[in-house]
Amino acid sequence: MKAPPLPATAPESGAAAARNACKLCAPLGACVVFSGIESCVPFLHGSQGCATYIRRYLISHFREPVDIASSSFSEEDTVFGGARNLKAGLRNVVSQYHPEAIGVATTCLAETIGEDVPRILASYQAETPSETPASLIHVATPSYAGTHIDGFHAAMLSVVRQFAQASERHARLNLFPGFVSPEDLRQLKEMLRAAGVDFTLLPDYSQTLDGRTWSEYHRLQPGGTPLESIRQMGGAPATFELGRTLAAKPGTAAAWLAREHGVPRVALGLPIGLRETDRFWAELERLTGHGLPPALDDERGRLIDSLVDGHKYVFGKRAAIFGDPDLVVGLASFLGELGVQPALCATGSKNSGMKNCLAEVLADTDTSGLVVLEGADHAAIAERAKELRLDLLLGSSKGYPMARELKVPLIRVGFPIHDRLGGQRVPHLGYRGAQQLFDRLVNTILESRQDNSSTGYSYL
Ligand code: SF4
Repeated sequence: MKAPPLPATAPESGAAAARNACKLCAPLGACVVFSGIESCVPFLHGSQGCATYIRRYLISHFREPVDIASSSFSEEDTVFGGARNLKAGLRNVVSQYHPEAIGVATTCLAETIGEDVPRILASYQAETPSETPASLIHVATPSYAGTHIDGFHAAMLSVVRQFAQASERHARLNLFPGFVSPEDLRQLKEMLRAAGVDFTLLPDYSQTLDGRTWSEYHRLQPGGTPLESIRQMGGAPATFELGRTLAAKPGTAAAWLAREHGVPRVALGLPIGLRETDRFWAELERLTGHGLPPALDDERGRLIDSLVDGHKYVFGKRAAIFGDPDLVVGLASFLGELGVQPALCATGSKNSGMKNCLAEVLADTDTSGLVVLEGADHAAIAERAKELRLDLLLGSSKGYPMARELKVPLIRVGFPIHDRLGGQRVPHLGYRGAQQLFDRLVNTILESRQDNSSTGYSYL
């Protein structure tokens, strides 16, 4: 069915600078990808402050040590180029960490002065072959041209282009989950294992960014996608690429595998909620012959039962969703199937294609009055939110000032979650993720009703 058009995207606020941005910087996304590769150290070519900022953001969300090396430009490097620092930094990382790979992402400064990073890396390898780790991965991540999500997908493409080779056909599926939580990665792995599907998940930071305590410090956290598995991606039966906005983009890692190695690309939305998770399983069964296993069918059944139980509490409520485009689309789809009206959908990304994807997933939902904001900061989102009658906000903890001002409860999802514990364990995907999101949603509404009632009802 052709999706009806959504109302026009609201114009940008016209503010001179971002006020509490609804996006993060591009190399952050690249660092997340590199953190999800086994024995790989993220490295930023540029100012030291960029690495400090990104480490701080990742550590306070994931609550894990996150090592990100930096070439630490000085004033002199800014004028004459940072090749010397980059080479010295790489030598230090090799001698301290002994990694199999180093992922080099650029900061705004290195991009602005036009550093020729591939040339510097080639010259480093030529000068110091014995010290060179197995691989140096380069990705250009100018933050003035994109967000952390763009940086994430650019790094995915760099990794796959560098490692995936023509290989014998095998039965191991490629799964590209997008920027989701470590809990989501575990959930995806559990789902595929339960169905008996062999797969390579890239990136896999389920352990590296949410691991266990150690009796002694490890410079490189255990876990991550093995390089050898990435090398064999060219022989996979298909690549599942999650995130509806990616489907229209020809430059993704899955699109490259399809073009270069003939690996079919299966573009799906993030499996958030019943319909999108059903689509995931339908495609998996079509391609692999492995259907929904009984234990997960039970999870699905319990989810439907709970939706019936809780529908009366949420039907007709109005919500604002903000964050990464694919997360916003997935959550809007889920809210639509619950009978909750998405009244405001916003992202800091520009030209992400989010609006078209919202039209697809909300084809059966009343979208009259829906406001869609792209390229927005949280201040602009709050300004629009004030004009709407909202019952709920769904987004990262950067939306807390808005929630406080509007006195509307915020359900924390996505990234970053800095003002609560467990951001890395927030589940969004699969029937189980939908179940937990739904319970949180209903209970937030009940709690708000209780707190705002003059009577102390304890039976709702
Ligand atoms: S200067 Fe650019 S790369 Fe560095 S922290 Fe700021 S946005 Fe990120």
